[in-house]
Amino acid sequence: MRALTWQGRENVAVTEVPDPIIKEPTDAIIKVTSTAICGSDLHLYSMLSPFLSEGDVLGHETMGIVQEVGSEVTHISPGDRVVVPFTISCGHCWMCDRGLFSQCETTQNREHDCGASLFGYTSLYGQVPGGQAEYLRVPHADFGPVAVPSEGPDDRWLFLSDVLPTAWQGVVYADVPPGGALAVVGLGPIGQFCVRVARHMGIETVIGVDRVPERLELAARSGALVIDESRIDDVPQAVRELTAGRGADGVIDAVGMEAHGSPVSAAMQKMTGVLPDVMGRAVMQRAGVDRLAALHDAALSARRGGTVSLVGVYGGAADPMNLLKMFDRQLTLRMGQANVRQWTGEILDVLREPGDVLGTETFATHHLSLDEAPGAYEMFQKKQDGCIKVVLHPGT
Ligand code: NAD
Ligand code: ZN
Ligand code: ZN
Repeated sequence: MRALTWQGRENVAVTEVPDPIIKEPTDAIIKVTSTAICGSDLHLYSMLSPFLSEGDVLGHETMGIVQEVGSEVTHISPGDRVVVPFTISCGHCWMCDRGLFSQCETTQNREHDCGASLFGYTSLYGQVPGGQAEYLRVPHADFGPVAVPSEGPDDRWLFLSDVLPTAWQGVVYADVPPGGALAVVGLGPIGQFCVRVARHMGIETVIGVDRVPERLELAARSGALVIDESRIDDVPQAVRELTAGRGADGVIDAVGMEAHGSPVSAAMQKMTGVLPDVMGRAVMQRAGVDRLAALHDAALSARRGGTVSLVGVYGGAADPMNLLKMFDRQLTLRMGQANVRQWTGEILDVLREPGDVLGTETFATHHLSLDEAPGAYEMFQKKQDGCIKVVLHPGT
């Protein structure tokens, strides 16, 4: 089959790879109809290169039609339309029983002391071939895939794979009390859905921070008050001005390790990129290489006693944080990969409502063929052509 494979730093290509086959009785094979590119793929494309190998199939936001199931897969059958959560969880271990699906003890990567396996991610998370391909092997398909209605375009349901549960968890973890305010730093796909989910949950004051004009506009249309961080020096101060001088009750960092505005770490990141992999891995695992401008802004935009919900992915093992301020301000910090299946039931109920409540059907800015994926990575990374979300269709 054909698949989008990682070839080197900022170099991906569509290549021929072996067709996936059922290996375990709990596997399923899905014919992929839609598969999106995520901000996390941009980290793999660039920063996380030391943890990828040439030929790795990327992609973790996938849906399609079940082709074949193993003997122990009973809740879905060939012909069903399913969305595949990006975290691979067994559904019955100690962690899964507690809803901590991204910490699944069956798929945890103990040799690296890392959590549950993820599709199309790094060697730290199982190096499981991803879904930007014609077909996808789904391990633990006796639990993971979510069957969705046959009506409506793929885009209605596709974001159940990652973006929606991630945003949902981000908003829940931000713990905004009734009448309170939420700030969302970073208005990529994740930040956009944080705004929409927060508004849907009844949070009246939602503040969005970014620098990309069309992303600010889109968040404003969803009901956010927006702050263009490129025009001001002090984001926390601007957030305080909108929240009676205190700061937001909850703040979501939806940016991650490649934030604008951290020149020293940006240089460090460039350096790890040119080192041989083994040295790059060592630097990342021992040093502070993340660009932390957004995270610092998020932490200082929360009111005293508030909560910071960290959704953006960071990868450095020794990043400096302002513990003096964080301790003094009595912050609560929550974070992690999304426990996707914890939220899919509730979200599916919202998606089934008439009227496309969360605007999923009109969210993608680009629908492209798999062959166009390499250019799409570059376009999404550079935020060209108004690109906010790309959905690829391997069948076209
Ligand atoms: P994206 O790259 O499209 O969005 C990031 C946005 O942050 C961009 O719009 C960018 O302009 C903005 N930004 C950069 N620096 C900023 C700064 N200093 N202040 C304010 N805004 C700034 O990516 P996305 O798809 O929306 O993903 C966002 C993050 O969420 C990524 O780190 C991704 O890896 C992570 N993620 C986490 C999970 C999870 O389970 N926790 C799941 C999916 C994605
Ligand atoms: Zn994703
Ligand atoms: Zn489990």
